[in-house]
Amino acid sequence: MQEHPYVLVTGGAGYIGSHVVLALRQAGWPVVVVDDLSTGKRRLVPDDVRFIEGDIADRALIDAALVRYQPVAVMHFAGSIVVPESVSDPLRYYANNTAASLSLIAACVAAGVDRFIFSSTAAVYGEPARSPVSETDPTVPINPYGSSKLCTEWVLRDTAAATPLEYVALRYFNVAGADPEGRSGQSMEKATHLIKVACQAALGLRKGMEVFGDDYPTADGTCVRDYIHVSDLAEAHVRALDYLVAGGKSIVLNCGYGHGFSVREVLETVRAVAEGRLEWRIGPRRAGDPPALVSANTRIRETLGWQPRFDDLRFIVETAMDWEQRLIEKAL
Ligand code: UDP
Repeated sequence: MQEHPYVLVTGGAGYIGSHVVLALRQAGWPVVVVDDLSTGKRRLVPDDVRFIEGDIADRALIDAALVRYQPVAVMHFAGSIVVPESVSDPLRYYANNTAASLSLIAACVAAGVDRFIFSSTAAVYGEPARSPVSETDPTVPINPYGSSKLCTEWVLRDTAAATPLEYVALRYFNVAGADPEGRSGQSMEKATHLIKVACQAALGLRKGMEVFGDDYPTADGTCVRDYIHVSDLAEAHVRALDYLVAGGKSIVLNCGYGHGFSVREVLETVRAVAEGRLEWRIGPRRAGDPPALVSANTRIRETLGWQPRFDDLRFIVETAMDWEQRLIEKAL
């Protein structure tokens, strides 16, 4: 007999979801993944994990999965994540990140699944007035991606007030790196995120790269972000689950290390890891980039007892680079 009940993970074949599946299994939780494989990869889900291919907005499919597996909690990663795409195609973002989440939350309420862990984002803060930014600071998203996630936070807040559902919304800062054991990593073909782009450029997979602006009001003129290793983020999810199972109340938590690096510092680190093989040019600013986005993280440390293990930019870059190399070698 299995020791724990199931955890249902949407988007478990994606970048963050697949790392969380690994961490859940490590902690002894049986997992069932629901993923439509629109961006996720089946091979990132271990063979002994139950896998349902389908859309989370398919209410009949979700209802059936909730009845069959009676999960103790739902962890919801499935969604769209590319900021510029959200600007050009907002309806897609409200459909995938807001409406589909609403359908999933409604299914949970109907089935009596009353623990929910949601992938939110630091993009809900927009251009914060101060850095580090804390959970109680104003949420003023500046792109449809952030707005679509914030809407879902509101759905959760109001649903939790009216039903037995309790939730943890985790606001991710800049997630990067890959599983130190090489079992998963960022596998989206059209990467836009800095560390992945820089690793690809260093490996000759793209012709150079651009720094989006060096005239920001920061120490070296380039934007500052709080880069968090994906395995530390995964651990935060396992702890959020333990928190809810122990009777914890609904809460919003920032997920970051509490200090940042500039784009230039990141690129210099990638260049060092790549033994000099990285060139970049300075380009214009990219629309919608706040100068600095760094997480206050006292709340997550105190609430979940979370302690990062990989708060080391070089290690983050090394694991990201290892994964890129693995993708090339295996032609994945
Ligand atoms: N960035 C850059 N060149 C790139 C990709 C990103 O200069 O090719 C910068 C971007 O302008 C931002 C930082 O790197 O200041 C982090 O961007 P990313 O897209 O990784 O994450 P975001 O902070 O937008 O979620």
